[in-house]
Amino acid sequence: QAKPGLTILASKISKPYIEDIEREVQELKSIRPDGPVLVGFLANNDPAAEMYANWTKKTSESMGFKYELRRIDDKDFLEEAIIEANNDDKVDGIMVYFPVFGNAQDQYLQQVVSRDKDVEGLNHVYYQNLYHNIRYLDDEKDKKLKSILPCTPLAVVKVMEYLKLYNTLLPMGNRMYGKKCVIINRSEIVGRPLAALLANDGATVFSIDIDNIQKFTRGEKLKYKKHHVEDLGKFSDELLKECCKDADVIITGVPGDSYKFPTQYIKDGAVCINFSSNKNFSDEVKEKASFYVPSTGKVTIAMLLRNLLRLVKNREYIKAH
Ligand code: NAD
Repeated sequence: QAKPGLTILASKISKPYIEDIEREVQELKSIRPDGPVLVGFLANNDPAAEMYANWTKKTSESMGFKYELRRIDDKDFLEEAIIEANNDDKVDGIMVYFPVFGNAQDQYLQQVVSRDKDVEGLNHVYYQNLYHNIRYLDDEKDKKLKSILPCTPLAVVKVMEYLKLYNTLLPMGNRMYGKKCVIINRSEIVGRPLAALLANDGATVFSIDIDNIQKFTRGEKLKYKKHHVEDLGKFSDELLKECCKDADVIITGVPGDSYKFPTQYIKDGAVCINFSSNKNFSDEVKEKASFYVPSTGKVTIAMLLRNLLRLVKNREYIKAH
C-alpha cells in the first residue's frame, strides 16, 4: 500500500538557490576574479566540526567561491586571527566552527566577527533586527541594505516556503497567519530565532525545550509588529501532546542519538522537518506526515553562501554611495 506522504530531500529544495548563487558568483567575477572569499576558523579538535569544514569547502568551491580553512592550534590566538580577517579587504566572509571554549566565551568570539563579514548571521544586530521584525539595515525608507538572517533558521523557513506552508496569496509578513507550528529546540542559535521568525509571519508557535513550553505569537488580531512570548508551563508529555494536537508543522532539533519524537502525537498530514544532525523522527513518521524533510543542512549551506553574496553586495553598495 502506498504511503500517504512524501519524503523531500534538502538537496531538492536547495537546488534553485544554488543555481541563483552560481549565477551571481559569475557576475561578481569582475571584482572577485577568484570568486568571493570565505574564511573558516577551526580552533577545536572536534571531528564533527572538521567534517563540516570540509563539506563547506567542497560545496562552496564547487559553486565558484574561494574557501580558506585557517586552523588555530592555540585557542587563545583565535580572537586576533578573527580581527586580522575582519581587517583584510581580500576576505569577504568569515565563519567560526563552534564550540571553541564551550562556554560564554564562544558567544563573545561570535561577536568579534565583523558584522559586515558574518555569513552565519550571528551578529547581535542581525538577531535584534530579527526579534524586532526589522528587515533592513538602512532605514526602512531606503531599503537598500537587507539585514542578514541566521542561516539555519532561515533554511527552515525556506523549507517551509518550498512546501507551500507560506501562503503567497497573503501579504508579506502575514503568510503564516493561522498556522500552528511546534519546534523542539529553543537554542539561541536556531530554535528561539526560528520561533520568532515564524511568529512574526503570523504563525502560532509552540517552542519546546527540555525545561518548559512557550507560545510565540504576534499578539492578537495582527495589531502587534513583533512577536509575543507566553509561558505555558513545565515540559511534560501531556502538554507536548496538547500542543501537537492540531499542529500543521513539527520541527525537531534535538542533539543526540537517543531522542525520537513520539510519532503518535503527529496529526495526520502534518509536515515534519528535522534540522538536528541526528534523526529525531523514526521511520513511521512517513505514515503520518504529508511531507517529511529528514535534514536541512544542504539548505543551510545555500543560505550561508547567499548571505555571503548579500554581504558583498551591501559592501559594494556602501562603497559606491
Ligand atoms: P543546543 O544543544 O544548543 O540546543 C538543543 C535544544 O534542544 C535546547 O533548547 C534543549 O532544551 C532542547 N532539547 C534537548 N533535548 C530535548 C528533549 N528531550 N525534549 C525537548 N527539548 C529538548 O543545540 P543547537 O545548537 O540548537 O543544535 C541542535 C541540533 O541541530 C544539533 O544536532 C546540531 O548539529 C544541529 N544543527 C543543524 C544545523 C543545520 O543546518 N541543519 C545547524 C545548526 C545546528
